[in-house]
Amino acid sequence: MPASPFDRWITEDPEVLALMGAEAERQATTVQLIASENFTSTAVMAATGSVLTNKYAEGYPGRRYYGGNQVVDQVEDLARDRLKALFGAEHANVQPHAGSNANLAVYQALLDPGDTVLAMRLDHGGHLTHGSPASITSKVWNFVSYGVTPATDDPDNPGEVIDFDQVAEMARTHRPKLIVAGSTAYARIIDPLPFREIADSIGARFMFDAAHPAGLIAGGVHPSPVGVADVVTFTTHKTLRGPRGGAILCSAELAKSIDSAIFPGLQGGPLENVIAGKAVAFAEAARPEFRTYAAQVVANAKALAAAVAAQGIRLVSGGTDNHQVLCDLQSFDAELTGKEAQEVLDRAGITCNRNTIPDDPRSPFITSGLRLGSAAQTTVGMGEAEMERIGGLIGTTLRGRADESVVAGVRAEIRELCASFPPYPDLADA
Ligand SMILES: *Cc1c(COP(=O)(O)O)cnc(C)c1O
Repeated sequence: MPASPFDRWITEDPEVLALMGAEAERQATTVQLIASENFTSTAVMAATGSVLTNKYAEGYPGRRYYGGNQVVDQVEDLARDRLKALFGAEHANVQPHAGSNANLAVYQALLDPGDTVLAMRLDHGGHLTHGSPASITSKVWNFVSYGVTPATDDPDNPGEVIDFDQVAEMARTHRPKLIVAGSTAYARIIDPLPFREIADSIGARFMFDAAHPAGLIAGGVHPSPVGVADVVTFTTHKTLRGPRGGAILCSAELAKSIDSAIFPGLQGGPLENVIAGKAVAFAEAARPEFRTYAAQVVANAKALAAAVAAQGIRLVSGGTDNHQVLCDLQSFDAELTGKEAQEVLDRAGITCNRNTIPDDPRSPFITSGLRLGSAAQTTVGMGEAEMERIGGLIGTTLRGRADESVVAGVRAEIRELCASFPPYPDLADA
């Protein structure tokens, strides 16, 4: 199966070509429910696979350390201008190689080593770069954390939402220099305004890590933190549907310190081919169709959430208002771990990841939860009816996990479903 617009250039390396074809086949014949993944356009892939990969361009447009940057300066300016327009920001940095680098650069720009940062607990949905003991962030800065409220039995007020009383109390007690909002596993809208108020009350800076919802914000279905937070970081490859990478938005006041924290503070030469891919994706996200896409992502997540709940799986926070569905498997089957569920679903052609749930009794390697996401399958054109069917198949697979014929039956059904939604129909006859 063709894997890129450029397959014919790789025919002299059959080993890599075969692996690319195998991955294209996997992506086209299984459903992708990993909440941090998406399918970029072929235009994005073409830009990232271009001659722009050859150019060294340390520095920023107009201030480079090497010659020959007449063209890539225009590429990077185009990406920055499109990004600023997309989110209404004063300044954009499109050089971060990943979302993690974007966060590290902001910490470096705004903090001194040892300064205190208040961010979301890892086991309640925070990211590694929000102070995990395994991340360099916790070795350089002093992270303290807030979490979500306890779960309740009240369907109208299910709990497991950000505990703003705790955010305020931790802020008063620890006087952090920076407050971080944003999460890697949280199915609700994150309102930037209460964070801003709390940050102002103690004179702290406020960073919003929009790695997951960036596309939902660009598509107008989630509130924008731009202009509310001092700095907004995000990945370009999750709901925003661009190439793998990161970006930072900030006020003109912080532009210089953010830029120098990325280069020379953290990175060397930028990946101008990826920056071109980002420029393509930013233009795609500015089109009216992207607003339709973002709204459908949320509608699909709601349909998927209802379908898995109908199978007896408890939803963390009782539902979703973004692209994520967080499943607590304990109620479904006390014996079933997130790890085992992920592995059997993989065999059934349903790709997702295990995830800790708030106050998970199991380790992050095993877990009691699953995280599902609707962004990728929405891109290929699936709607609520398909989400309902997939939710039912998740239940069938997990219940029948000891019976290989059940798993094989689901695998066949998924394969047939995917055949009607090819991710790259225009590559098929390339
Ligand atoms: C995905 C994610 C990141 C980092 O992304 P990488 O590109 O994998 O480094 C940062 N913060 C949050 C909240 C994320 O979900």
